[in-house]
Amino acid sequence: MRKCVRCGEEMVEGFTFTGGSGNVIRKKGLTGKAVYPKAAVCPKCGEVSIYADEEQLEKLMK
Ligand SMILES: [Zn+2]
Repeated sequence: MRKCVRCGEEMVEGFTFTGGSGNVIRKKGLTGKAVYPKAAVCPKCGEVSIYADEEQLEKLMK
């Protein structure tokens, strides 16, 4: 579980970004492996955290 960096509350995970094309992480340049990050939202203060899930992380760190 992710904890909010602001208030310590447990964040709700698994949100995805839709629309636009600016939310891709690539390892190296434009030909690198593309990963679409997810977002978690704090139900208490509204902090939004962007993260790579396990599968995405593996792609990025290889
Ligand atoms: Zn919070």
